[in-house]
Amino acid sequence: MITLKKEFKTSQIKLNNLGQGETISFINNTDYQLATEYNKWKEQNLSDLQTTFSNYVENGGSWIKQGYREKIQEFLFPTSNEKCAYCERKPNDGGGNLEIEHFYPKKGQGFENKSFDFDNLLPSCKQCNTKKGIKYKIGNIEILNPYKESNISSHLKLNTETLILEGVSEIGKATIKLLESSLNVKKYFDKENNKQKGTLYVRKEIEDQIVEKLENIKETKKDIERNLNNNNLAEIGILKNRLFEKLKTLLRNEIRIENSITATRATIILNHNIFKEVFEYLNLIDNNKYNKIKLIRDEKMQYCL
Ligand SMILES: [Zn+2]
Repeated sequence: MITLKKEFKTSQIKLNNLGQGETISFINNTDYQLATEYNKWKEQNLSDLQTTFSNYVENGGSWIKQGYREKIQEFLFPTSNEKCAYCERKPNDGGGNLEIEHFYPKKGQGFENKSFDFDNLLPSCKQCNTKKGIKYKIGNIEILNPYKESNISSHLKLNTETLILEGVSEIGKATIKLLESSLNVKKYFDKENNKQKGTLYVRKEIEDQIVEKLENIKETKKDIERNLNNNNLAEIGILKNRLFEKLKTLLRNEIRIENSITATRATIILNHNIFKEVFEYLNLIDNNKYNKIKLIRDEKMQYCL
């Protein structure tokens, strides 16, 4: 589940060209600009969009014409850094190409008037979009809308032992129930051809890469300990710097919103025993460097599930 939205202050912005009573909640400048440009474009093409859509409601077929679909994608997909808003995978990391998902369904449940609201559109991978389909609630409980909920971690937790995403609130549980078969899948689909990977498979792959990097960092800690025994001060200074740089690089390069599954990366790294051990070790040997790393660590914690 995408957690990047919570790093920005949520605000309710009323756009000039929305209809009376319509609001749109967007939370950073890029999103705001894209929403504004989208709304201008929508107004200019409204009658054409509505003609195709009315035909879809009455007769089926496609809800939008080719060309228009691609145009909406241009406005929408950068709002998630080209990732699925639900599973946070990029197309290259399984899940398949991004599609335009309607949180409230396009047809049959009274939300037809929201079909071109930017606020109702989410970038979604083919797997998540297919599993969610036209549903948006379980019983009376609406599932999580990652673009609306600023505190995803109060609803979902990543189990760092099993790498399974678990619901911890009623809303979280409803979300998992509806999207379980795309949010927690082991399967590696069609290895040879389209390379779609299940979410659990992707998480495990990333965890393995992270653990390798953490073990490398732990080696530097051991080097420092060896040199402390020999009282080799010059070498210790170099190694402390190396330890600091390695930790900084790990946090900055792995836990970036531009990466696939940022929330998973953050949760795995910041809860890992090796990370905790080395982080506390830095506190013992160099308080100044520790404080610098702690600032970065604290900033990255917002991505954790
Ligand atoms: Zn997805």
